[in-house]
Amino acid sequence: MVFSYFTKLSPAQKRVYRTSDEINEVPLPDGEALRPLIPSLATALEQEDRDRTGEICKALVMGLTSRLNVPPLRVRILAVRPSADWGELHGLYEQTGGRASAVITLWMRTAKHRRIVAFRSFLRTLLHELCHHLDYHLYNLPDSYHTEGFYKRESSLFHQLVPGEEKMRK
Ligand SMILES: [Zn+2]
Repeated sequence: MVFSYFTKLSPAQKRVYRTSDEINEVPLPDGEALRPLIPSLATALEQEDRDRTGEICKALVMGLTSRLNVPPLRVRILAVRPSADWGELHGLYEQTGGRASAVITLWMRTAKHRRIVAFRSFLRTLLHELCHHLDYHLYNLPDSYHTEGFYKRESSLFHQLVPGEEKMRK
């Protein structure tokens, strides 16, 4: 399956898309060691502790980037998600010029009801933005597309950090 925007891509972009679509997993060496961070992150988010949430996200992202051998990333945690007619922004991945690390921005509260973002969706967003980083730095793709493979890679990381979730859903 390809997403509808595929038809609008140039032949070179289609090749990037197909490469992205074919990678379904991100094997994470020693992912178990990162699992204790997950309940701490859930608690920090629930308690609306922005500093603690940021610290744990940084530790998690550092653990992931070092295990996957990609350049480090910075993480920014902000309060309320930006929104407009297109919906609301969940997370953002920004590449930076020069030597500065790329940045992931996450928001703790939804725009609509200003509620704390559900933990599962917060963690998924973090991993989603990290997957953009992996497209550029692990797979050396010139662009990072939302392909089916991309979403599978996001899920693959999620299930390695939160084991058992998959079984529960079946
Ligand atoms: Zn994205």
